[in-house]
Amino acid sequence: MQTQGKLLVVILGIFLISCSEKSAETKSSTKEKSPPNFVVIFADDLGYGDLGTYGHPTIKTPNLDRMAQEGQKWTNFYAGASVCTPSRAALLTGRLPVRSGMASSKQRVLFPDSKNGLPASEITLAEQLKKVGYSTAAIGKWHLGHKEQYLPTNHGFDYYFGIPYSNDMDMVSGLAPYWEYWQQPNDSIKTEHFNVPLFRNTEIIERPANQNTITTRYSNEAVSYIKKNKDSPFFVYLAHNLPHIPLFVSDEFKGTSERGLYGDVLEEIDNGVGKILKTLEDEGLAENTIVVFTSDNGPWLPFKLNGGSAGLLRAGKGTTWEGGMREPGIFWAPGQIKPGVVTALGSTMDLFATFSKIAGASLPEDRILDSHDLSPTLFAQEANTRKSVVYYRGTEIYAVRLGDYKAHFIIQGAYGQFGKREEHKKPLLYNLSHDPSEQFDIAEKHPEILKQIQELVTNHSANLVRGEDQLADRE
Ligand code: MG
Repeated sequence: MQTQGKLLVVILGIFLISCSEKSAETKSSTKEKSPPNFVVIFADDLGYGDLGTYGHPTIKTPNLDRMAQEGQKWTNFYAGASVCTPSRAALLTGRLPVRSGMASSKQRVLFPDSKNGLPASEITLAEQLKKVGYSTAAIGKWHLGHKEQYLPTNHGFDYYFGIPYSNDMDMVSGLAPYWEYWQQPNDSIKTEHFNVPLFRNTEIIERPANQNTITTRYSNEAVSYIKKNKDSPFFVYLAHNLPHIPLFVSDEFKGTSERGLYGDVLEEIDNGVGKILKTLEDEGLAENTIVVFTSDNGPWLPFKLNGGSAGLLRAGKGTTWEGGMREPGIFWAPGQIKPGVVTALGSTMDLFATFSKIAGASLPEDRILDSHDLSPTLFAQEANTRKSVVYYRGTEIYAVRLGDYKAHFIIQGAYGQFGKREEHKKPLLYNLSHDPSEQFDIAEKHPEILKQIQELVTNHSANLVRGEDQLADRE
């Protein structure tokens, strides 16, 4: 009996040791598979040609260049719209803004007297990631509604620090009319002319926000949020207010760039990118964090030297030419993202499905998404499912890209005095791989491609449920 008892104790001991080893194994493999963190750095009105790595000859962006070198540089990456509000709605919902009502035929963006914002019924990327345990922060420009119910903290973000709309809004009284105001030298343009509020969560903590220091303060907020939340998966959405006009920089960057004030601003943004990358590396998070850099729309060209450059792309912000919506798209995660230049199509709307897939958050099934999972391209440079881009201006389709080809049904300049509209019953057609500047109409030669694009439009329109216009109503 004694021998049998000892044997039983030994067997039980072996069983317990083996169980505890298994549980250690499970723990460590769970740790290895812990979902990655996401940091999206979103510039405002930065053009395709404004970064060193995208060919700018004098603006120095060593940190973004490094991200592109170590990660992926996408050359056919699109914003969801050509102006701020709909573009931001598109990124955060993974849906064309015409579906959420964040595009309008009456107003292009939200203003400080707008009544509405992103509807609560929309599911944001932050809400998606919260479902699977992420901590979430929005830092910077929001522009999806400034009233409390529309602020980031009511759209899935645990934390908000930023200006809720564009930095040129809330102009104080007594200044020249809007377009005249900008004719004066940059030295006369002061941050106190723009009475924009700075929020922490739902409280205004500074008004007017000091825009001279805002870019570096945003980057520092991102750094401190990352440090505080390093033990759980996190999503940081860092949406700079700049380089949207008015251009302001902190003293450290004033007059330092070869490209004047606009270059100074970009170099300050790039410096913040460097701080974020360094923090991720110092904290041991770099290999488990995906950092994305892009912009909400193209350069605001009427502002001339105070606006950016779309490089070889045609036109800029506010238009459905390539310069209005094609943006730098840089993905960085050392050891995970397969480095290289990617010419496949991608969109800011695709971050929704891509991050959801990587984080293990199931996609909503009660609505149409316009979001494609880019992870096969990111991790293996394999094809993803995005084959087309639909270019809306407000609630109308102006153009469609299918593969290499883009058809324009309507063309129009950017804004008001620049905005002559031309409808083309016979669409213009460009091969964007051969002709990225959209110079040579080849519609006559390719009726079969126009037919395919027309079919795409017919199918898209047949399934379209338009959201109720959230931009039109103002106080
Ligand atoms: Mg913008």
